[in-house]
Amino acid sequence: MSDKIKVLNPLVELDGDEMARIMWGLIKDRLILEFLDIPIVYFDLGIKSRDNTNDEVTIKAAEAIKTHKVGVKCATITPNHERLKEYSLKQLWKSPNATIRSILDGTVFRKPIIIKNIPPAVKTWVKPIIIGRHAYGDIYKGAEMKIDKPGVVELIYKSYDGSETVSVTVHEFKTKGVVMAMHNLEKSIRSFAKSCINYAVSEKVDLWFGAKDTISKTYHAYFKEIFSQEINNAYEQLNASNIQYRYLLIDDAVAQIMKSSGGMLWACMNYDGDVMSDMIASGFGSLGLMTSVLVSPDGNYEYEAAHGTVVRHYYERLKGNVTSTNPIASIFAWTGAIAKRGELDNTPDVIRFAKALEQSVIETVESGIMTKDLMSISQPPVDRFYTTEEFIDEVYKRLTDNLGK
Ligand code: NAP
Ligand code: MG
Repeated sequence: MSDKIKVLNPLVELDGDEMARIMWGLIKDRLILEFLDIPIVYFDLGIKSRDNTNDEVTIKAAEAIKTHKVGVKCATITPNHERLKEYSLKQLWKSPNATIRSILDGTVFRKPIIIKNIPPAVKTWVKPIIIGRHAYGDIYKGAEMKIDKPGVVELIYKSYDGSETVSVTVHEFKTKGVVMAMHNLEKSIRSFAKSCINYAVSEKVDLWFGAKDTISKTYHAYFKEIFSQEINNAYEQLNASNIQYRYLLIDDAVAQIMKSSGGMLWACMNYDGDVMSDMIASGFGSLGLMTSVLVSPDGNYEYEAAHGTVVRHYYERLKGNVTSTNPIASIFAWTGAIAKRGELDNTPDVIRFAKALEQSVIETVESGIMTKDLMSISQPPVDRFYTTEEFIDEVYKRLTDNLGK
């Protein structure tokens, strides 16, 4: 087709594994490449390719995202011992997401897709609640001990130059117990705050941050302080986009979220984000409707679906059975990346294409055409589900209509 929409700068594509990879190919061929003339910098992060390149391909892909600013990633296998055997791997390669995140130094934001006939568990949630989880430190890098006999536990800091020693008593144990020490880093908290501000500006949503500084007057208060410094630094940018910042005590934040209509970015400390992102995800329906984006403090973006490779469906497919895996979150990973590319390149027709594709997906589901995972929660109910291929065909039809082709 000569009338394809031209994308000026490259998009970095990271291919993946299993059922997610099958859906990925269908989406790319049918819903993207038929309409866009787009330079793609392709990396195969499928497990065999990572194994063959000793995982170099993952590092190269992350570097490419740094160069080109925008990437889109298919779900990948993080190998465990079973996978090692299943795919005859040389070793247990690290999670690609962890490798990419450590290179880009970013924060992951999860955003649900809202569709009228897929009502959330909480009736008032009419706009997405986006969660940003600080993915460093706290209990995830804690040092723990079991105490079996009476004794004292102290926290001791000794500066390497020998000039300073500080100690505090944690507890004088009279009986058995347990103890944990944890830490965080100024640099990591600051880059988290910056990523949250970048993302709130990019999505034009308010920013909430919750912690418990009334109880944790040093640790949690440190997070609160760094957030407010970064908010002050970004004051003009936030003001220009009319974005409000709210600091709340974490329990108040939870209560306010449940009564809200959504439409905010909720920045969470590590443990809160771990717990709350699963609550929000199930509250909005299906994993097939949850997108995820890694945003680095210096403005690189990597979009993906929040779900994994959907291995159970893949094994069914290998047996020759029909599967109905939901491709929506993967489609929105593509549209998120394409819209961001259009925004950075200043090409409104590219952004319009991304929005038309998203609109076509939503219209398809709203007309009662959906995959099996959505069928059980659809209101009103529908009497049959569509396979992945049938669903993508239906989206394609609406997309051609919406683009006036
Ligand atoms: P999963 O792929 O997220 O799937 C778990 C279950 O959730 C599925 O069996 C399915 O439930 C449902 N589901 C998830 N996505 C769906 C979709 N698009 N449409 C319909 N149903 C969907 O998690 P997993 O099976 O535990 O993990 C498989 C592999 O993915 C693992 O090797 C893991 O390492 C990897 N993983 C990768 C990423 C990533 O790359 N970001 C994230 C998570 C996991 P039913 O079986 O009930 O239909
Ligand atoms: Mg969790």
